[in-house]
Amino acid sequence: MTIQWFPGHMAKAKREVTEKLKLIDIVFELVDARIPISSRNPLIDEIVANKPRIMLLNKADMADPDVTKQWIDFFAAQQIEALPIDSQSGTGVKQIVAVAKERLRPKFEKMLAKGIKRPRAMRALIVGIPNVGKSTLINRLAGKHIAKTGDTPGVTKAQQWIKVGKELELLDTPGILWPKFEDEEVGLKLATTGAIKDTILNLQDVAVYALRFLAIYYPDRLKERYVLSHIPEDIVQLFDEIGKKRGCLAVGGVVDYDKVAELVLRDIRTEKLGRLSFDRP
Ligand code: GDP
Repeated sequence: MTIQWFPGHMAKAKREVTEKLKLIDIVFELVDARIPISSRNPLIDEIVANKPRIMLLNKADMADPDVTKQWIDFFAAQQIEALPIDSQSGTGVKQIVAVAKERLRPKFEKMLAKGIKRPRAMRALIVGIPNVGKSTLINRLAGKHIAKTGDTPGVTKAQQWIKVGKELELLDTPGILWPKFEDEEVGLKLATTGAIKDTILNLQDVAVYALRFLAIYYPDRLKERYVLSHIPEDIVQLFDEIGKKRGCLAVGGVVDYDKVAELVLRDIRTEKLGRLSFDRP
C-alpha cells in the first residue's frame, strides 16, 4: 500500500477518524511493538482527545521481550494501558475484549443505573499508521477474513460493524493515520522495520542506521550472524566485512554495498537477528 501524505491528505485522514470517533466508545491504538513511539501518529492525543484508549503493541512476536516489558511500564506510568499482541498468530488478542470491558465498566454501569437493562455492545475503532497490522487484527478479532487489506480510494460506503463475540463491535474500516515522518530518525526506524517502502529512503542510509543501532544494542547478535570476531568502528569496513562473508560482490569482486544493505535489512525483517526493538524507553 502506498499512501502519499500531503497536508490535504493528513487533514482528510484526521477528519475521517474524528467522524468515526463519534460512533465509538473506545479506541484501540495500534503501534508496532518494536517502535512504539516512532509508529505513533504525532497528533494522536489531540485527535483521540477524551475517548478511552488502549494501546496495542502489535508484532510483539518480533520485538525484544525485555524492552516490551519496559515499554508497558513506561506507558503505565503515563496512565496508558498497553497490551502486547501478535495479530498474526492471535497471541494476546483475546485479552483486548477483557481490558476494554474493564476500561468501560464505569460507563456501562451508569447505563445500568439509568435503567437500561441490557446495555449494547461496546463499540471500538482501531487506529494506526499504515502497515502496523490493522487489517490483520480486524481479521483476527472477527475470526473470519472479512476485513479488506489495502485501501479503496473513492469508495464511500456505510459504516459496517464487525461483531466480536457478544460484547464488542468493531468498525470494519480502521482509522488510518500518518507517522511522524518529518523526523529523520523516525523515518529510518520505520524503514528498518519495513513499515515504509524501501524506495522512499536510500537503502544504504537505512542499513547504515540499522547496523550502527545493532552495533550498540545487539553487538553479540551482529557478530554471531555475520561471523565477526569484532565489530569495526568504521561503517564502511563493517559493510565490507559483511559483504565478503556473505558474498555480496559486484563484478571484479568488490563489495556491492546495495546488496549488503538489502541483505542486512532482510535479515532484520525476517528475524534472522532475533527479536529486536528499535525504540527504547
Ligand atoms: P495495515 O496496513 O495496518 O492494515 O497492516 P496489515 O494488516 O496489512 O499488516 C501489515 C503486515 O504486517 C502484513 O504483512 C502482516 O502479515 C504483518 N503483521 C500484522 N500483524 C502482525 C503481527 O502481530 N506479527 C507479525 N509478525 N506480523 C504481523
